[in-house]
Amino acid sequence: MTTVTHFECSRCGRRFEPGQLAARCPCGGPLLVRYNLEAVRQGWSREWLEHAPPTMWRYAPLLPASGFGTSISLGEGMTPLVRLPRIGERAGVPNLWIKDDGVNPAGSAESRAASCWFTMALQMGLSEWQAAADAVAAPALALYGAAAGLPVRLALPASASRASWLAVAAAGALADGAALGPSAEAVAGSGAWPWPYRVEGLKTLGLEIAEQMRWNPPSAILCPAGDGAGLVGIWKAFEELAAIGWLTTGPPRLFAVQAEGCAPLVDAFHHGLDRCAAWPDPRTIAASLRTPLPDADDLVLRILRFSGGGALAVSDEEMLDAAIELAQSEGIFASPEGGASLAALRRLREDGALAETDSAVLVNPASGFLYPEVFSTRFPRSAAGEQDKLGGLITPR
Ligand SMILES: [Zn+2]
Repeated sequence: MTTVTHFECSRCGRRFEPGQLAARCPCGGPLLVRYNLEAVRQGWSREWLEHAPPTMWRYAPLLPASGFGTSISLGEGMTPLVRLPRIGERAGVPNLWIKDDGVNPAGSAESRAASCWFTMALQMGLSEWQAAADAVAAPALALYGAAAGLPVRLALPASASRASWLAVAAAGALADGAALGPSAEAVAGSGAWPWPYRVEGLKTLGLEIAEQMRWNPPSAILCPAGDGAGLVGIWKAFEELAAIGWLTTGPPRLFAVQAEGCAPLVDAFHHGLDRCAAWPDPRTIAASLRTPLPDADDLVLRILRFSGGGALAVSDEEMLDAAIELAQSEGIFASPEGGASLAALRRLREDGALAETDSAVLVNPASGFLYPEVFSTRFPRSAAGEQDKLGGLITPR
């Protein structure tokens, strides 16, 4: 059962009633969900988790849903935390892991966010919903909308991969004239759906890393950051776990990883700024990193500095090379975003920001299966005869 007490503005600290659609305070600050952590500390234990469901809803006291059995779940969460022995050795960080969120139901960590969002949408009595979504989030929103029995309409960027488009279409969630023009692409993934619930869903990624490492967090977590919700969620997880006394060591350093073609956080971080300037022409193969102005830029920057982490950008070539290396050396078919985490780790090790004795977790937020066109640039297969491969088993309608 949830212990939610209120919503709180991350900028001015103003309090609001919980369970609302608002994502922002009148001051512009994004809202965060707050819990009665003292009640959690007294009423919940790490041992209790041994009997909890193997999904993200195992952390129900720290999630906003009103009761057990009310969640819209497809089994998201408790994704593998996999050791990377070969790549770790080569990169000079032998204690290296990847949190592979590409194995979630809709192929990405957005399954967590969508599970939390649609659970709350039903609780708040929504009868339909529409939004613009990036190519990584869209399949999760479409499929979880279907699981909730809620009519959903999604507009996708024109650049959305075929795999994402087809998942949304199959779930019956494509909006009429579904493709956003290039100028509207920036809308997708940024402020399109209630931020507080998005953060709470993604928070479970951090809770799981802590549990899977037996409450002994790694020294660093490298997280791809588009709108920054994943990074904020992971930080919030460690903050709340520290408050209830479950961590045996301090929280990890958090590093935001962006694309060179869209790096507003990296720019602001290195110029010592508290806010980001909107990135003029976002360009990268990583769909979820194409956010010109993160929703909670000031909050993300504060977290990066407070945790002793940082922000760095890698090129599209580097992230694709690294994604392929993850597949070839470790058997993980990661998205370009996941590849970006590995490319960033190399950079941090070379710069001396990480030592050989550090333990590090790379976040792979999505599966490589969502990116057929991007991987095809390295592994082309003749387009002729694509239809023939079905051997006439099915006739296109
Ligand atoms: Zn405020």
